[in-house]
Amino acid sequence: YEQRKEESERCPLTGLYNYRYFENYLQDLFLKWEKEDVNKPISLILLDIDHFKQVNDTYGHESGNEILCLLSERLRMVLSNQGVLARYGGEEFVILLPGYAADQSINIAEDIKHAISSEPFYSHDHILRWETVQEINVTASIGVAVYPNDCEEPLELIRHADRAMYVGAKQQGRNKVANYNQMNTNVQ
Ligand code: GH3
Ligand code: MG
Ligand code: MG
Repeated sequence: YEQRKEESERCPLTGLYNYRYFENYLQDLFLKWEKEDVNKPISLILLDIDHFKQVNDTYGHESGNEILCLLSERLRMVLSNQGVLARYGGEEFVILLPGYAADQSINIAEDIKHAISSEPFYSHDHILRWETVQEINVTASIGVAVYPNDCEEPLELIRHADRAMYVGAKQQGRNKVANYNQMNTNVQ
């Protein structure tokens, strides 16, 4: 039973939690804190790899998978034991940081951005047979949203971080961290 439970909660490629686990965790946390009258912020970071289709097209799908695994490792390293990290979808990752205010989670998001962009990823499993290892540079666009500043209910936190990621980071040239709150005051 334990093994089944573990499998249903995890992404088989990266070993990270999956979106199902993450969404349940988020809902449960909101309910619990509401019930116990906990008055602390909750931050959510959403990350989408930039131009990932190009990586697949250039180096092959297996190489893309390698990068997803290596990037997951870097996320684990930056976060250490902080927050709950999950693979939310294809090339999207989410991090829930209960008790973290905006400035703290934005710092973490900047650290993540740097951990991804500052060093290339080394791929062995690529389709360019004439070289043994390929150095692949990767960046990510990152959105941050914070409860209660930016939203009233849990799934809104994901939607708003996603919107910050798209409007504040992707559309502004990628490889950026965007804060939902800042975005509203600056962009609109
Ligand atoms: P953008 O900067 O706008 O995010 O560009 P993008 O290419 O990352 O975005 P797009 O949504 O067009 O493509 C996402 C790509 O991610 C397409 C898909 O093939 C790839 N992808 C999703 N899941 C996986 C996976 O599990 N393995 C691999 N290798 N690729 C994946
Ligand atoms: Mg995407
Ligand atoms: Mg992408």
